[in-house]
This record gives sequence, C-alpha cells and structure tokens, in this order.
Amino acid sequence: MAEIRLDNVVKKFGNVIAINNVSFEIEDREFLVMLGPSGCGKTTTLRSIAGLEHPQEGDIFIGPRRVNTLAPADRDIAFVFQFYALYPHLSVQNNIAFPLKAAKVEPTEIKKRVINVAQMLRIEHILDRKPSVLSGGEMQRVAIGRSMVRRPKAFLMDEPMSNLDAKLRVDMRSELKSLQQQLGTTTVYVTHDQVEAMSMADRIAIMDKGQLQQIGKPTDVYNWPKNLFVAGFMGNPAMNLLPCCFESASQQLKIEHTNFAIKLTQNHLDLIRPSISENLVFGIRPEHISLSTTSIASGLKAKVHLVEPLGSANIVDIVLGQVSADKFVLLRVRTHPSIVPKSGETVWIQIDPKKIHIFDRSTTLVLSETA
Ligand code: ATP
Repeated sequence: MAEIRLDNVVKKFGNVIAINNVSFEIEDREFLVMLGPSGCGKTTTLRSIAGLEHPQEGDIFIGPRRVNTLAPADRDIAFVFQFYALYPHLSVQNNIAFPLKAAKVEPTEIKKRVINVAQMLRIEHILDRKPSVLSGGEMQRVAIGRSMVRRPKAFLMDEPMSNLDAKLRVDMRSELKSLQQQLGTTTVYVTHDQVEAMSMADRIAIMDKGQLQQIGKPTDVYNWPKNLFVAGFMGNPAMNLLPCCFESASQQLKIEHTNFAIKLTQNHLDLIRPSISENLVFGIRPEHISLSTTSIASGLKAKVHLVEPLGSANIVDIVLGQVSADKFVLLRVRTHPSIVPKSGETVWIQIDPKKIHIFDRSTTLVLSETA
C-alpha cells in the first residue's frame, strides 16, 4: 500500500504535449479515477506512473520513493488493461498464479493465494477452465485476480471494463469498488465514463488537453465545478451554460439573445465586478429547474421545443430565444416522468437561485475563483 505523487509532470510526444505540468497526490488506500475526453492524457499519465512512459520533466513518487528511473517491474504496481491479455494456453488457475511463479514463490503459498483471490472474485468454479471458454466478465475477473495475487502497492487500471456489456459493467462497478475497499490497495482508474467515475471514485481527477482541470470528491466536482470545462463535462444531460451579462439597474443576469433575466442571490451579487459583468456565462443543471404546465406568477414563461422521454424522467428543451433563423437558445430541464408537455406548449419554469453557477467567459473560471 502506498501513496502516489506527481510533481509538475510533463510528457511530450514530438509536438504533442500529452501531460502538461500535472501535479496531484493519490492518498494511501484511495480509489482515484482519472476522467476526461479522448486524448486528454489519462492513459499517458497512468503509463508514466507505471514506468511505461518516461516524462521529460517532473517527478513521480510511489510511497516515499522517487521512481522516475525505476523499471516498471521494480515499481511494485499492477496494471490492468482494457484488453485482458490472458495466456490462452494456461488455465485460469495458472494465469492467476503466473506472476507468483515468475517471482519464485513457494508452491504451497501460490496455491493458498490463488484460492484466496478466486474466492474474493467468485471465480473458484472456473479455475480449471481455459480463457477461450470464459465470458467477458469472467476474463476481466481473472485479469484482476492476476494483478491482485502479487499484493502490489497499487493497482493501475486503464478502462478495464470497456469491453463488457452495459449490464455487466454496472455489476462489475460495485464489485470492483467493494473489492478495492476490502483490499485497501491504492488504485488509479482511467475512464471516460463519468457514471463509472462518479459511482466508484473516492476522488475524481478531471483532465482536458493534458492539464488537470479539477480534483475532488465526486459530489464536490459535480456540485462545485471550478471552470466551464468541468461544468460542461460532468452531468448527463450537461449543465445549461448560457452566455449572459449583468444588468446593474435590475441587478439581474440578462441571457444573451433572449428577453430572460435571472434574479441572483446576494452571494452571487457580491461576486460580480464591473470588469467582468459584460462577459459572463450562466450555468444551471437541468435538475435544478422546475417546470409547470400551469401558470406560476413568479415563473418564467416559455415554449417547449422538444421532449425526450427517458422513462425515469423527461428531458424538456425550452426555447428562451433565437440567435439566428435556425439557432435557438435552449434550456434543458429534467422533469418528473408524469410531466410531459408537448412541443410548442407554453410552460412556466422556476430556477433554484441557490443552484446557479456563474463563470467568467474570458478566464472560464467560476466566479468564486475569479472574485
Ligand atoms: P483515450 O481515452 O482515447 O485513450 P487518453 O485521455 O488516454 O485518450 P492519451 O492516450 O494519454 O489520452 O493521449 C494523449 C495525447 O498524446 C493524444 O493526443 C495522443 O494522440 C498522444 N499520444 C499518446 N501516445 C502517443 C505516442 N506513443 N506517440 C504519439 N502521440 C501519442
């Protein structure tokens, strides 16, 4: 078990900066998920921790030890890849035992550890089978078992569930999380699936274009995004992000290309400075807007554009204004499934003022950061 630390790590491939001066710390026993869009540098960061890539700048520590010059085999970490890479000619038992045999561990000890791992992963009944007859979920468990059996200081996992079907992924998510808690092994897990990140992580590190955008507990990152990238990336449907300016006469946010103005709480009013007041972005999550098909005096009156029924909720697009002939300013609202307005119908919406986010459009930072 160990903590992992990255200090100002830079990794370039020719002109491409895959990791751009990234620093963060993963605590001992922590489950850290690295999340971000394709090409943001997640895998390169993970591979750098493993010693499979060599950053040009910065330091990487595993426990108290600086590991920059250590070979992957000497870092005492276990890597689980997206592709399971099991040995096809070996049984499940021998696949799991492989790293221990390579390390010349005593046969009785090997047997004990393989059985212990198989029990934890609930794969005792397939120990004699060959990989070719296993399902995707079973193969994934064997791959995880092979990495666990060595009792490494840390697990590094690169999209290990991306080959599984949706149902199995959900099951494996909770299994993997409880397994990690049971073992208490520091884990760094790479994914581009935010549901996976939200449900499994102790903390999430969100990356974009090689840079760390925010790191924090899943609920903190979701509720308090630091910048426009994180606000737009976390959440499905995404947060509504609408360019706006502050009208000092009415003390309201005026949404561009609309007649709508949003009332602010005193906390938000305190953050708005004249230098940025013309250049803001208003943010509100779809679940923080309520919608009524009957008139509400304090509600904003608007027309429905489209309704997307999801079963457990409906996603309703409301027209707030128009930028050009074919470009509307839309606000997405998540409603209870019983509220099913029709396209073109008039509705009244209310925005929870405590859930409003305001960003500085030029720095992209949330106002609490720029104030
Ligand atoms: P994905 O989710 O698609 O795997 P990622 O976030 O893991 O993406 P990386 O694989 O770390 O991203 O890649 C980061 C950047 O570095 C990308 O622009 C990628 O094209 C580039 N890159 C990664 N490996 C190499 C390499 N061996 N040679 C050249 N460029 C590379």
